[in-house]
Amino acid sequence: MMVVEFYLKGDNHLISFRMKTFDLLGLSTPVLRAIGELGFESPTPIQEQAIPVMLGGNQDVVALAQTGTGKTAAFGLPLIELLDFTKRDTQALILAPTRELCVQITKDMQNYAKYTPGAHVVSIYGGARIEGQIREVRKGPQIIAATPGRLVDMIERGVVDLSTIEFVVLDEADEMLTMGFKEDLDLILSQTPAEKSTWLFSATMPREVQRIANDY
Ligand code: AMP
Repeated sequence: MMVVEFYLKGDNHLISFRMKTFDLLGLSTPVLRAIGELGFESPTPIQEQAIPVMLGGNQDVVALAQTGTGKTAAFGLPLIELLDFTKRDTQALILAPTRELCVQITKDMQNYAKYTPGAHVVSIYGGARIEGQIREVRKGPQIIAATPGRLVDMIERGVVDLSTIEFVVLDEADEMLTMGFKEDLDLILSQTPAEKSTWLFSATMPREVQRIANDY
């Protein structure tokens, strides 16, 4: 449903209107077309708040968001706008606690980028054969969605190069800490450039999450 609000201003009958639609958030035509096909008509509250900030590019962001709020598009749509898909460097890293979430994020990103030429998203996660994932990573995806343990394995094998990362998304950061990924996160983030934007999403904000928000 599209929400349209009209305001009548003063006696001069100047009418301004605010439409809570995606095109006013500053998204490009290919992205608008893709999310239109997915049936997204108006942004969810977190998308409305986060997308304009993230499109600025050089902001670190901490967001309290549960699954089901539209958080994947809140970080995914700005990423697609900000990356340079004419290059084959890996520019964005999305870390998630589970294989299922990692696969879901990858599918969502592929859908959002359906009409964005050159965009390539790959997921790497444990519990599956590493060889196929290594082949995918060697093709030069601009976006990698990963679970921390398997990514560390890939880094140690010299398969993944994080030196060109510009954006790191920590999705379900509280879950990643609960599942014991703190050391892996430290190692992974130490391989990324100091100059980058970090976007942290968490359903809860316990002290450990606040600490990693401060650290990273
Ligand atoms: P997420 O919180 O990212 O897991 O998203 C929850 C579900 O909402 C997913 O199935 C999304 O495809 C869907 N979704 C996200 N944003 C929108 C939107 N603006 N309009 C309609 N559906 C959405």
